[in-house]
Amino acid sequence: HLSKRLQTVSDHVEPGSRLADIGSDHAYLPIHLAKNHIIEYGVVGEVAKGPLSNAISEIKKDNLLEVLHPRLADGLAAIEPGDDVNAITIAGMGGNLITHILEDGKAKLSGKEKLILQPNVGEPTVRKWLMANRYKIFAEQILEEDGHIYEIVTAKKAEQPIKYTELELKFGPFLLQEKSPVFVAKWQEEIRLLQKVIQSMRQAVHQDTAKIAAIQKEIDTINEVIQVES
Ligand code: SAM
Repeated sequence: HLSKRLQTVSDHVEPGSRLADIGSDHAYLPIHLAKNHIIEYGVVGEVAKGPLSNAISEIKKDNLLEVLHPRLADGLAAIEPGDDVNAITIAGMGGNLITHILEDGKAKLSGKEKLILQPNVGEPTVRKWLMANRYKIFAEQILEEDGHIYEIVTAKKAEQPIKYTELELKFGPFLLQEKSPVFVAKWQEEIRLLQKVIQSMRQAVHQDTAKIAAIQKEIDTINEVIQVES
């Protein structure tokens, strides 16, 4: 039984895919996909030995060692030439780490694979990397589970350079269009946090007025975005 978060990630994996799941931990995602015959082949990459051995025992339990290939490796180093991977999932990590994994592993990317990324924080960093490397975002999801809000970004290499605006990088080009209730809730919470920051800055003896103004501007931007038009 998958979490709603991982279920949503798995929904983006097309039937017949050859997947690399990087930072797989217990390998729940690739196991789910293999069990349901959505993937025909899967690389299960893990940098840490403990999680990798968990993954191996979970894979063995389901008798899936012919489909899923657990490998101890840093990032995309788990992918080998013969794998012929056409989908990569990287989920449950910070946006910085996801970006590092993609940047360090560039040589392993053929440009044919669909990237399905689920940063826990730092989504704009991931979108900036995608834009800089000519990946086009073609779907985004936002969901809430157990009090956390998660975003999922899927992208594919484009023919032409990709340009996103500052707003699109921050909020997500599709999420910005959709403005779902979860999206609004996420950014309302962000406003609340920024207001708290401003409040405590105002109590300081030496006020950093420039910084306060910058945060206020950020709040205004968010407010403009989530404002429900009538
Ligand atoms: N992907 C799973 C999920 O979304 O539920 C597990 C997420 S878990 C919080 C993050 C995992 O990524 C950990 O097991 C960690 O060891 C692994 N990890 C961190 N850096 C990595 C790297 N550079 N290469 C491969 N795995 C990495």
